[in-house]
Amino acid sequence: QAITSYYYTTPEEARLLLRQRERFSHKGSFGHALLLVGSYGKIGAGVLAAKACLRSGVGLLTVQAPRCGYTVLQTAVPEAMCRPDTHQYVLSGQSEIEGLPYSEFSAIGVGPGIGKAPETANMLRTLLSEFRNPLVLDADALNLLAENRELLSMVPEHSILTPHPKEFERLTQKWENDYDKLEILGDFARRYRIVVVLKGAHTAIATPEGDVHFNSSGNPGLSTGGTGDVLTGVLTALLAQGYDAIEAAVLGVYQHGLAGDRAAEQRGQIGMTASDILETLRWS
Ligand code: AMP
Ligand code: MG
Repeated sequence: QAITSYYYTTPEEARLLLRQRERFSHKGSFGHALLLVGSYGKIGAGVLAAKACLRSGVGLLTVQAPRCGYTVLQTAVPEAMCRPDTHQYVLSGQSEIEGLPYSEFSAIGVGPGIGKAPETANMLRTLLSEFRNPLVLDADALNLLAENRELLSMVPEHSILTPHPKEFERLTQKWENDYDKLEILGDFARRYRIVVVLKGAHTAIATPEGDVHFNSSGNPGLSTGGTGDVLTGVLTALLAQGYDAIEAAVLGVYQHGLAGDRAAEQRGQIGMTASDILETLRWS
């Protein structure tokens, strides 16, 4: 077993990771992301992820959501193209309108608000067998992986998984203490050659080498519904722009926490919401 190193993301380090835009760039320079999000009653998760993706520099964004989310998304997020699923309430992966196949997207984010319908499990299976670029897997996409473990080894190398502790426990096992938890985290990332973002205060990011990066930004104001969906949008945008999975996770988690710190200055930890951090995200 390789020796695990621990790192701590300082403001300076995050600044060094951030790429500036070229004078002669165009939207094609920054990738085309696809978000697979939402189900009946949880379209808001998709809206938050989509807005965060656009606020994080993606060139183009397509959102595939169940048909019931179509008007909501087109109204709330006019910058994104919306591909309505053939299914009214959940994602089946089939679309009413013709569009690019999965393989044409620079990066795909899947999970916020999707639920665990059998149609959606099938969609995830198809996605994992067709898509070789990096993915961000979050929320119920992780719970579906935990329930269909054969899918885990199909996750493309250098994808990013973003579990909170409960989702991580479902993917792995219960831990005795924090040290034990970090061991399980490092082993899991090494085993599947993926980046795992274990969310919480001082989010821990494990790399395929088993290294762990602790985040330094963020505050308990982020403990509120929707902030994880925002993170999925941020990370998907960074992967689409060509950041590798470790850079994307370290930089994205730091910027997301920093946006939370700015929101707490404005609204207080108690008053801030996930929508506030869409407004306080700033890439400079
Ligand atoms: P989720 O549980 O998917 O909604 O994600 C919650 C988000 O808020 C993650 O990015 C967490 O890292 C962040 N978060 C939650 N609680 C805290 C906390 N006490 N301190 C810092 N960040 C937190
Ligand atoms: Mg979540």
